[in-house]
Amino acid sequence: MSWRYLPVSDWKPRFGRIYLLRGLLFIVAAFFHSQSAAQSSLDGNKLLTLWAGSLPIILTAPHGGREAIPGIPARRGIGVAQFTAERDSNTAELAEALAVKLRQRLGAAPFLVIARFERKFVDANREPGSAYEAAQAKTYYDNYHRALGDAAQAIRQKWGSGLLLDIHGQGEQAVTIYRGTDNGKSVSQLHQQFGASALTGPKSILGYLASRGYKVLPDLGGKERETRYTGGYTTRTYGSHQGTKIDAIQLELGSDLRAKANLERTAGDLAQAIEIFTREFLLRDLSAGAPGQSPAP
Ligand SMILES: [Zn+2]
Repeated sequence: MSWRYLPVSDWKPRFGRIYLLRGLLFIVAAFFHSQSAAQSSLDGNKLLTLWAGSLPIILTAPHGGREAIPGIPARRGIGVAQFTAERDSNTAELAEALAVKLRQRLGAAPFLVIARFERKFVDANREPGSAYEAAQAKTYYDNYHRALGDAAQAIRQKWGSGLLLDIHGQGEQAVTIYRGTDNGKSVSQLHQQFGASALTGPKSILGYLASRGYKVLPDLGGKERETRYTGGYTTRTYGSHQGTKIDAIQLELGSDLRAKANLERTAGDLAQAIEIFTREFLLRDLSAGAPGQSPAP
């Protein structure tokens, strides 16, 4: 058979106009109903920058956000240990610039989870009881950690294991980068597989940065312990000592390294450091972000 095309004027609505209108109203109502159900979850995502990656690398930045959460008062922190609401200036921008540079270098993007909400409303690097106060803030916190958990899960499924870098800023030493791993706990898998060189050797992230003139603490001799910045909720929760298969390192960058004028350079050097580490330890056979494969027989 062949289709016969009716001229437009021959088309008749299948139902009368009233039915058509009712049907339309029903569809519109159903749409808005489902929208409102999903709305609180969507609101939480509005203040996040999220990339689904195609590399076994997650970059997170919980403290660089600049946006207020509408209708929520600032946290007061009563009874919260180590309470601070201070922003880690330019770490959101740095994490994003770093992700872009990594994608350029490796031809594949990392996973990226950036909080755009101000720390004074939600601290995404604290356990839930210390992270927020207003009930409406929960969804922002939950969405941040859902994204992080999903990224870790995706990496385990596709690559088996991976790396998480949690990007922060410190105001104590302007040109120093502190490493935080709970003195090795959150990178225990990496250490087991490759020894100390994966954390402090010339092809480690911090080792390469030191070779470029960055001051790194604890120093790379391996004798100093982490005392000042030892990691946080993120590295403690998602690190490989928890059986996550994700080695987690907190990086605390000094204020000069995060100054606007230096962001591109810092992001570029970090990207190069991560690329060297990735090719040496993470994906020895890196081809467009594909999982590491043994060579064909
Ligand atoms: Zn921080």
